[in-house]
Amino acid sequence: MDLQPLALPATDGDWLPWTDARVEQGVAAAEAGLADLRAAAPGDPVALTRWNDVEIALSQVLSLVSLLGAVHPDGAVREAAEAHDLATRRLATDVYLDAEVHARLAALDAKALDPPAQRVLADALRAFRRAGVDRDDATRARVRELDRRAQELGQAFSRAIRDDRRTTRVPAASLAGLPEDWLAAHPSDADGTVEVSTDYPDTLPVLTHARDAEARRAVARTMHDVAWPENDAVLAELLTTRRERATLLGHADWPSYDAELKMIGEGDRIPEFVDRVAEAADGPGRRDLADLLEVARAAGEDVVDFSSWRHHLETLRRERFDVDTQEVRRYLDAGKVRAGLLEVTGRLFGLRYEPVDAPTWHPEVTSHDVHLEDGTLLGRVHLDLHPRPHKYHHAAQFSLVPGVRDRLLPEGVLVCNFSRGLMELDHVVTLFHEFGHLLHHVLAGRHDWVRFSGVATEWDFVEAPSQLLEEWAWDAGVLASFATDEHGTPIPAELVGRMRAAQELGTAFLARTQTAYAAVSYAFHQECPPDLTARLRELMARYSLVELVPDTHFHTGFGHLEGYTSAYYTYLWSKVIAKDLFSAFDADDLFAPEVARRYRDTVLAAGGSRDAADLVEDFLGRPYDDRAFSAWLDHRGEEHP
Ligand SMILES: [Zn+2]
Repeated sequence: MDLQPLALPATDGDWLPWTDARVEQGVAAAEAGLADLRAAAPGDPVALTRWNDVEIALSQVLSLVSLLGAVHPDGAVREAAEAHDLATRRLATDVYLDAEVHARLAALDAKALDPPAQRVLADALRAFRRAGVDRDDATRARVRELDRRAQELGQAFSRAIRDDRRTTRVPAASLAGLPEDWLAAHPSDADGTVEVSTDYPDTLPVLTHARDAEARRAVARTMHDVAWPENDAVLAELLTTRRERATLLGHADWPSYDAELKMIGEGDRIPEFVDRVAEAADGPGRRDLADLLEVARAAGEDVVDFSSWRHHLETLRRERFDVDTQEVRRYLDAGKVRAGLLEVTGRLFGLRYEPVDAPTWHPEVTSHDVHLEDGTLLGRVHLDLHPRPHKYHHAAQFSLVPGVRDRLLPEGVLVCNFSRGLMELDHVVTLFHEFGHLLHHVLAGRHDWVRFSGVATEWDFVEAPSQLLEEWAWDAGVLASFATDEHGTPIPAELVGRMRAAQELGTAFLARTQTAYAAVSYAFHQECPPDLTARLRELMARYSLVELVPDTHFHTGFGHLEGYTSAYYTYLWSKVIAKDLFSAFDADDLFAPEVARRYRDTVLAAGGSRDAADLVEDFLGRPYDDRAFSAWLDHRGEEHP
């Protein structure tokens, strides 16, 4: 029998009681599983099965509440979800400090288990050790206190960013260069000014298209001061809390503690990796910078900073490749793009998406069931693509339900903030990227052990499948299949070729910005610097080729410091792997079915059941390396045929 998707409440008023009830059931199931586990005879492998039950119950609750806290339009539901999230994380933390539960698992004979169960057991025992279960009472109590504090601080940090929607008023006359539809959606007031909010669809077009440097600077200053000053103290305490947590358990610092679970393995390999990429990107990045400075000077400006680089890069791309993002947007109607995304990924991975008419948390959300070609129902996906007040501000994939073989049908959600009309090409690329996570979630949703489900792979690998899927959004043939203008004319291959060459123009330059963010994420956690703003400025000056806007505080709005902690390097790390994975595909025939299906089955469907390096080696037939990545960094912006 096919598994049933989760039935969501049909009326607004039902959400709050429904959420409370789901959480209550889930927590009760976790507690029942724990009781059974404790009652197991020492050495009885049923302990591991019960452990899986506990993890399934907790992961269901955590998926639901972290999604609802980020997307639900009703403030009461969001607040309840956040409270449940904290309470459930506490419960999850306490489990790893439960000496009795640990003893039952530690008593198992690993050699008597099959390899997947061995992996689950080793993973669980490591998690218990990392929680400090084998330490004295005082240490365990302190760890528990620090975990709770870190969770509260992390939530406060993210909430401040989410809720701090600021606005800037700029003279209407200063907005020359912006697209017609943006201007139409932003009428000027009686005093002749226009309000620009910190929502991406408001801010980014101004930074990219406004010819007026003052208007851009005003908007950038607001954007790079989100959650300042309140998040400065929150972040400082979060960093020291994490550090104490790590050192208490014998690690040198937080990055070392964190890296133990990742492909990179050791904390001090992070700055080595970051420096290696910064070095590889230095020459080509400075070539890009020199070009941008020339463009800036021609416009009467003398600096490439966070208020101007997008605009100068856009100008350079237009001058060199005659590209105009406006010309491209004509072909990128949000509805057609969404349909095209499903068509393309369906064809590539042998999937069929069936539209579902079922209630969700917002009428703009669209839902589809995902089937294999043989009709097997794999899971359900929900697309929540447009901005609204109090919604999560970035683009990300959330789990609604984790998939488990014969027990739970995986459901994933894309939470994005794209405009409802015409899209920019880089938003289409982001959409493909996030959809890569969604597919990973659904395709890897049929393991017995929830520990292997979905994107439960090493964190520094998790971006690679998504970065790989971005390549399809840049392919002329792929785009032509859905990107058509209002007359139905497909986007010309020649235009896509120029766009792509233009896009690659800033590759090394932008990679340097990524190394700067990675250095901030590492150094903040490694050093816990007393003055975050001062350290931010030093690191940005050393790694980024873009200057900060004076008197701004980017770090208080750098939301990834919450989730990625010291591991923002992962974006670049997985890019190295994604470029190598892509080298296995035929660039002239991206739909060649054999390689895509093999990738689907070898890498995606495997989820976290094996080490990512092994999955990649299986697929490539050799260990991955950084040749494809370096070649990409050192491109010359040549036009693609
Ligand atoms: Zn991603």
